[in-house]
This record gives sequence, C-alpha cells and structure tokens, in this order.
Amino acid sequence: MARQEQGSDGVCRRVVVFPLPFEGHMSPMLQLAELLHARGLAVTVLHTDFNAPDPARHPELAFVPSHETLPDGDATPGAGTDIVAQLLALNGACERPFREALASLLLGQRPPDVACVVVDGQWYTALGAASGLGVPVLALRTDSAAMFRSMLAFPRLRDAGYIPVKDERLDELVAELEPLRVRDLIRVDSSDTDALCGFIARVAAAMRASASGVVLNTFDAIEALELTKIQEELSCPAFAVGPLHMMCPAPADHSLHRPDRSCLAWLDAHPPRSVLYVSLGSVASVDPGVFEEMAWGLASSGVPFLWVVRPGSVHGVGTEATPRMPDGIDEEVRTRGKVVTWAPQREVLAHEAIGAFWTHCGWNSTLESICAGVPVLAQPCFADQTVNARYLTHQWGIGLELGDVIERARVAKTARMVMTGKEGGRMRERARQLKLQTNQCVASSLAIESLARYMLSL
Ligand code: UDP
Repeated sequence: MARQEQGSDGVCRRVVVFPLPFEGHMSPMLQLAELLHARGLAVTVLHTDFNAPDPARHPELAFVPSHETLPDGDATPGAGTDIVAQLLALNGACERPFREALASLLLGQRPPDVACVVVDGQWYTALGAASGLGVPVLALRTDSAAMFRSMLAFPRLRDAGYIPVKDERLDELVAELEPLRVRDLIRVDSSDTDALCGFIARVAAAMRASASGVVLNTFDAIEALELTKIQEELSCPAFAVGPLHMMCPAPADHSLHRPDRSCLAWLDAHPPRSVLYVSLGSVASVDPGVFEEMAWGLASSGVPFLWVVRPGSVHGVGTEATPRMPDGIDEEVRTRGKVVTWAPQREVLAHEAIGAFWTHCGWNSTLESICAGVPVLAQPCFADQTVNARYLTHQWGIGLELGDVIERARVAKTARMVMTGKEGGRMRERARQLKLQTNQCVASSLAIESLARYMLSL
C-alpha cells in the first residue's frame, strides 16, 4: 500500500483522471494513474460507459462512470473510419455527463481532496468543463512530442500553404518541423481538411485557455528537441513522463481486450530473432485487397510470422467478424505462421524469438518497440502514424517503410531485409542502443516525481 501524500493542510490528495475510451488512450492514462497512486496520491478514474475499463483489474483505483448517450451512425466511436467525426461527437456527447459527474465528485469531498483533474488531450470539452468548475486541469497527450508540436503548428502550416496537402509538395520538408515532410503531416481517412483543422483548433484553444500543465508519454532520449520547442510554445509546464508502460510499478495488463496467450508458447518453439510480429493496433483497418497482399507477402517471404488479425480490421467484413485468410494460403499459414485476434503485445515484443515488428506505428506500439529494442517495418495508416513512421525510419534509424502501396513482392522482400539482411542487422543494433538509453531513462523517475509535486502545489 502506497503512503498517502498530504497537502500542506494535512488533507490527503486525490487526482481525477478522464481517459478517452480507446485502447491507445486508455492504457497510458491507467498507467499514469497507477504511477501517481504509487507516489501516494489517491486516484479516481472517471470514465465513459463506452469501452469502460474493468475496475476489478485495478483495485487500487476508484472508478466512477459518467453515463453518456452516444450518437448513432458514422460518428459512433468504433464505427466507420471518420475518426475526426467520432472525436467531435464524443466531445459533444460527453461534455455534460463529465461536468455533472465531476461536479458531484467535487461536492461529495469531505474534506475537499481533489488536487487536480487529468483529461486526455483530445477531450477539449472536458478541459473547458473542469476549468469552469474551478479545478486545475492537466492534459495527457498520448501521442509523441513531435505530433503534439505539429498540431500546435497547424494554423501556421495552413497559412504557409502546406495544408491542404498538395501532391507536388509531398516530399518537401516542413520548415519548422524537420525531419517531417509534407506527406508525414497528420492524416485522416475521410474527414475534410476543414473538419480536421477545426478539431485541432479546438484542442489547441482548450489547451491554451484551460490547461495548468501538459503531460506527455515520451522522454528526452528520443524527443529532447521536440520537448524544448513545445515548452517554448506553451505558457504552462510540460512533463515528459514516458515511457509510461515501462515506468509502471507492476506491469499490469491495461488492455481493453483479452489477449490470446497461446502465441507465447508458439514463440517459445522458435529460435531467437526469427519471427516477424505483425499488428496494426486496435483501430486501423485495411481494404480487402491490402489484406490479401499482406497475407501473400508474408506467405512468400519464407519468414515465420505472428499476425494479429483483429475482428473489424478489414473493411467490409463487419466490426465483429474475424477476416478470413485468402483461399489457398492456409497451408502456408499453418506451417510458418500463427494468427491471433489479439496478442499480449508487450510480452510478445519482449520475447527473444521476435526479430522485427510490422506495425501501423501507433505511438504506444512505437514506444513498445523502442523499449524492446525491436526494429520495425512501418505501415502507417492514419492520424499521427505517419509522423511516428518518419521518426522510426529517419530520425532513429530503426525502421524500413513499406511504402504507400502494399504489394506482395515488396512485402516479401522488405520482410526478408529487416529479418535477415545487412540493413536489418544495422537497424537491430541501433534499436538495441536506443533500448539501453531508454532503460537509463526508466531508471530515473524524476519526471513523474516532479509531476506529482506540481499536482500537489496546484
Ligand atoms: N495491442 C495489444 N495486442 C494486440 C494489438 C495491440 O496489446 O494484439 C496494444 C499495443 O500493445 C498498444 C495498443 O494496443 O499498447 C495500441 O496502441 P497504439 O497507440 O499502438 O495504436 P492504436 O491502437 O491507438 O492505433
């Protein structure tokens, strides 16, 4: 049991956190909650009914639902591909339930003990609502510092003509955001530029108007320059407390899904660095044609592979149905592959049989690969994934790009290159070095200490 930190008035301090209900956002928020709890702060997780976390898996935290009514149709979280529409709708639908739930938490405190609220950085309405109730509020960014920086720069990029993106400028470096090129700027599938710019403007405005601080799941060894630039641009302090999944006292499973652990025994039967792990995260989905090219590329590469094929990860198959392998490929998959619907990813990446990670470059997957010292094949799909892919391949030199068009011959060639080629060997060595630097960063928990101190000072 952690010591309970007390404020100068002798009151035990509580932090209320409000995660965005998606896998890549929920896990880092719960990890942060556990870290704060381990430093003696009490934590209440205020959460949506949609994708609610399981309180039984976090007995040290308190849980309060905020009972929202979600919109129907394309804007329903998890449906369709219009992420911006979903985020706008979620913000709209959750503002009042969040405010009411927080207000009743604040009223119920005897004596008052809420030091501050931490909301996901995409919850612009919750930022405003918490600050309107007079409680200090911090924003947790679950993406990289580079991504956050490019988001803050978005209005300037639009004025400078980088946005909307023009085909003839795709390979141009973005002046204030190098090494990012125009093609690496945040990308969304079906929203128009105005909707994206509008969403980003709301997030940035709420952050500037209401946040007493920004918490980032990153660290100096990989993003020192980006962090300095962010701090220059913000008037509130920024705390880089990552990599959160490595900092957690007990590496609990924070996932919203149940993993298929049989893949770990399957990995045990393989030699070191022989298996390619393939996963496109919890949200990305691909066209049936791309899925087929991925499957045949893997089959013809000759490389053993562990592939996460999630229900809903292929367009047109339905969100509940697991996509079927292409006809004629079963034998190849049986002999050299293992397919699961959800893997215990961090344990998989830490397994010595893993030689590389074919990833969509979500920020959590990016951090998890860096921390495990595993090189990557980058297939960014949308949102911040293009930014992360650029850093993986260009800045840190631990990844190869699969290219805009997924095609079986290129897949097979690139898979062999990363697994057994000379370039793959060089990337593996750089990944090993980065892992060592990361371990040093994890050994010092100064950032989280100073965040906890700051929270108690508010
Ligand atoms: N993940 C997992 N098992 C899987 C696929 C993904 O545990 O089979 C986890 C992964 O470890 C990461 C998260 O899901 O923590 C995905 O987050 P990320 O930011 O990489 O991508 P997103 O899902 O948000 O696009």
